[in-house]
Amino acid sequence: CGIFGYVLNNVIKDRQSILETLFMGLARLEYRGYDSAGIAFDDDDGNIQIAKQQGKVADLERSVFQVKHIDFDHDFLYHVAVAHTRWATHGAPSAVNSHPHRSDVNNEFIVVHNGIITNFKEIKTLLEKKGYVFESDTDTEVLAKLVKFVYDNLKTDTGREPTFSQVIEIALREIQGAFALLFKSVHYPFEAVGCRRGSPLLIGIRTKHKFTTDEVPVLTETSDAGIVSINPGYRRSQSFLNFSSADGQTSPRVEYFLASDA
Ligand code: GLU
Repeated sequence: CGIFGYVLNNVIKDRQSILETLFMGLARLEYRGYDSAGIAFDDDDGNIQIAKQQGKVADLERSVFQVKHIDFDHDFLYHVAVAHTRWATHGAPSAVNSHPHRSDVNNEFIVVHNGIITNFKEIKTLLEKKGYVFESDTDTEVLAKLVKFVYDNLKTDTGREPTFSQVIEIALREIQGAFALLFKSVHYPFEAVGCRRGSPLLIGIRTKHKFTTDEVPVLTETSDAGIVSINPGYRRSQSFLNFSSADGQTSPRVEYFLASDA
């Protein structure tokens, strides 16, 4: 029902500010109604931590702040996190059906999703035959598993590391439905890939110095400081937005925020 994420290009180690940013994002999407909430973020060891549960954002926030092991010992040069409020369409409201969903037990790829994947059953059957074990009853989970499947195959076939957006673009050729999605991966620690088809996705870019529209096809500034949105006149049925804060192109101290309230 609502997704929020960021790519922070800052030296930060303060878990308070990381989590507060996430919960601030979720709080702004709460008005739409939801049954569950979840977050995923980088930890000190280069892994992705997921926390999710049925119920209110405030309940999730309370339980996350109680968990000691997500204290951060090191500074982060970059930090990427995603958050979600769910309005169940496939699979009852529960912790396991809450987003983010993951590719595997190592959380190699994770996704948050607004909308519906109409052909998820076919993809699920195919991936189950390949050995993927599903944990939830959602349509969303196929996305995380499909992306890992594509990544592993591309890497084997080409002998090279594909770009994150290449992986997502290829995976989404198989997907039908309406969606806004945000992906995060341990293989691409400084990146989040957001994409949409039919559902809106807002991109905010905040810098200490100026607004920038680099890398984003069409942007409109909104009244919220640092929040910009894809121009509704942008008519392609599908758009891929790939943000990397480690590519040397982006000016330092830029913060990307991504949000969808489809
Ligand atoms: N179809 C997905 C689910 O049921 C996403 C629902 C939503 O947009 O919150 O988990």
